[in-house]
Amino acid sequence: ASVRVSLADRSYDIQIGAGLLEKAADFVAERGGAQHVVVVTDTNVDELYGDPLADLFVEAGVESHVLVVEAGEPSKSPDVAADLWQTMLDEGCDRQTVILAVGGGVVGDIAGFVAATFARGLRFFQMPTTLLAQVDSSVGGKTGVNLEGAKNMVGAFWQPEGVLIDTDVLKTLPEREYSAGLAEVVKYGVILDADFFEFLEQKADAVVARDAQVLREIIQRSCRLKADVVEADEREQSGQRAKLNYGHTFGHALEAATGYSELLHGEAVAIGMVCASRLAESMGRIESSVTRRQVELLERFGLPVAVPDGIELGELSALMWRDKKVRDGEVHFVLPTRLGEVETVTSPGDDAVLAAMAG
Ligand code: NAD
Ligand code: ZN
Repeated sequence: ASVRVSLADRSYDIQIGAGLLEKAADFVAERGGAQHVVVVTDTNVDELYGDPLADLFVEAGVESHVLVVEAGEPSKSPDVAADLWQTMLDEGCDRQTVILAVGGGVVGDIAGFVAATFARGLRFFQMPTTLLAQVDSSVGGKTGVNLEGAKNMVGAFWQPEGVLIDTDVLKTLPEREYSAGLAEVVKYGVILDADFFEFLEQKADAVVARDAQVLREIIQRSCRLKADVVEADEREQSGQRAKLNYGHTFGHALEAATGYSELLHGEAVAIGMVCASRLAESMGRIESSVTRRQVELLERFGLPVAVPDGIELGELSALMWRDKKVRDGEVHFVLPTRLGEVETVTSPGDDAVLAAMAG
């Protein structure tokens, strides 16, 4: 299966299927080729998939280097980016070098950022290996690193020349990481596509079992939906792309309140979507069934749906006001109007927000 992302001269294909990583060298060769590739990956992914991948390029007569960062969010830092720049310089990389990001969203974001900046910009490909990266972070061209206390604060829009999604690699993904990716999949259904939401409800068992056929379909549909939004608003200027922040205003506050360690991003988004839906309900914008169906689906996917004990709701509210989505002194919430449709609501009132988080 394949999805086309149409962005004028920055257009590219997303190819999705089982066993595709074995075709990585062909994939690059068919899209402009490369004399020299740098594979950026993390310690876990390198262990599982690094050697066979590097061999593919050797066999194809392409010089290749594998640069491995420590697995985990702390690697998305300016220091690690600087290390990668220096290593690339020492290894003789130049403007012809092509970067391959092979890993989850952390690898995709830092490798993409290095691609955007080294020698003022290198061609690069995304080969995402977590569900979250396959349905979300590898598509759309946002790259970057974190600063102390400010996620994704430094970065660039830099589109890949292709995205290669091998559904087989999800077999080794830990269950919690898989579930976290499903939160973003559910999000696409709620904000953009009620039919897709119903498909997920009907196929929930197969989704949980990571059935190959169903995986290909949910990844393809998710990528298509994200690509539509990115095509309409590549640089988050018209507000279209803001829809993707459904569940994220609450979610980011939850992540910050728990020191970015207790909850995975997708878990925080799952709770955040339930809070947002409840807020919409209390404002009379949706029927209670819209919230209930999300709660049921998220729970079947092994995701949390309530603010964890011990988190002070007042602190969450304060964190939302500090979030960078605060503009004109207001907090903006993306709220459902029905399944498959959302709108942005400005500063609904602190009492309603607190009540939505209390459940
Ligand atoms: P991650 O990259 O940390 O990967 C999660 C864990 O899974 C890591 O330990 C990794 O080593 C491991 N892993 C990866 N693939 C594996 C596989 N196939 N088998 C076994 N283990 C595997 O986390 P993530 O959830 O993929 O990405 C989160 C990051 O993505 C965050 O930094 C977030 O800000 C970013 N993000 C970016 C965008 C964007 O548009 N650029 C969108 C959403 C999220
Ligand atoms: Zn997200």
